[in-house]
Amino acid sequence: MLTKEQVWELARTVHPYGVKVRRDLHQNPELSFCEHETHRYLATALQELGYSFRAGLGGGTGLQVVIRGARPGPVVALRADIDALPIQEETGLPFASHRPGVMHACGHDVHTAILLATAKALWSIKDELPGQVVLIFQPGEEKNPGGASLMIRDGVLDQPKVDAIFGLHVEPFLEAGRMAFGEGPMMAAPDELRVTIVGRGGHGATPHLTVDPVLTACQVITALQQVVARNVNPFQPAVVTIGMIQGGSAHNVIPDEVSFVGTVRTMDPELRRLMPERIEAVVRGICAAAGASYRFHYEHGYPVLVNHPEMTALARQAAVDVLGADKVEQMEPSMGGEDFAYYLERVPGTFARLGARAHDDAAPYGLHTSRLMVDESCIAVGVAYYIQVVQNFLTTGSVTP
Ligand SMILES: [Zn+2]
Ligand SMILES: [Zn+2]
Repeated sequence: MLTKEQVWELARTVHPYGVKVRRDLHQNPELSFCEHETHRYLATALQELGYSFRAGLGGGTGLQVVIRGARPGPVVALRADIDALPIQEETGLPFASHRPGVMHACGHDVHTAILLATAKALWSIKDELPGQVVLIFQPGEEKNPGGASLMIRDGVLDQPKVDAIFGLHVEPFLEAGRMAFGEGPMMAAPDELRVTIVGRGGHGATPHLTVDPVLTACQVITALQQVVARNVNPFQPAVVTIGMIQGGSAHNVIPDEVSFVGTVRTMDPELRRLMPERIEAVVRGICAAAGASYRFHYEHGYPVLVNHPEMTALARQAAVDVLGADKVEQMEPSMGGEDFAYYLERVPGTFARLGARAHDDAAPYGLHTSRLMVDESCIAVGVAYYIQVVQNFLTTGSVTP
């Protein structure tokens, strides 16, 4: 077992490497499932570190490294996501994105840098590890069906059989140097709703001769808010947001159709199952009253992310070991979605939040914004946490799923 001081020495040694990787990736962001240059960059880096690995996974751009310790023992996995978002960067950073309209605005560049720096750190102690460490670099976290599900299909949890998995996400509102953990349901299932209201178009001056899909769509969208307000237990979190509406071409023409799309987010599997039925009942009823018809499409996204209690306790202890109890906070649940949930459906583990707010930044920008900034000191913190969680898991070993 490394002492706290030895863990930090390792983490500080690889920190400059992590910062360089982060900036390289930040300049060259790639959209979900198109991370070809990132894939090449990671393959080269892993080769230079001395690792063998599987490449081309998860639809083509994912990688898996298996670090075999000198002694047999349990298998622990760590995961980073590598994709970026279709956002035009406005940070003004010297290493800002070179690709117009694409930005690492969810901090996945930082996650990837932390995991690669952890790989570099683990190389020097791998002969003392009592078990195996699997590193998963996955594509497409931001896009259905989620790179995680494809990596699982390609066997990253089975070859070798993973006993527990840990992941983290940068949190721009939490100060760098701090982490947060929570057990149970922590992130929502983000499902997608697409509706087209089909009426009968005509002249704006003769509405009585038409079936107006604009008015009907407005009524449906307003009424959909009542599903959460009047069908969902107030103690049960749920969100219905209609984010886009399209229809019509002129001020005096009633169109034939109006379409809208939205996101439906829940934390409870039973409620998740009920939502499409309730939502379609509202659409059906209002369309019937208006004499309109409709097309209804409902697509399930990632599962609810559920952190395993025992593994959350183990991971929280690892953070306390390296950061001190005063730097480790309770994680608040969020209605955001995260495809790490797929791994947690299969093996016990936990998904943590890693503070990334600069000490003097009083008004940080959030994830998925064009001005997201990350205090890079969080890279060393992430590495120290990962080394400690690997140590703690491999030495305590067993899991009760
Ligand atoms: Zn994101
Ligand atoms: Zn993310």
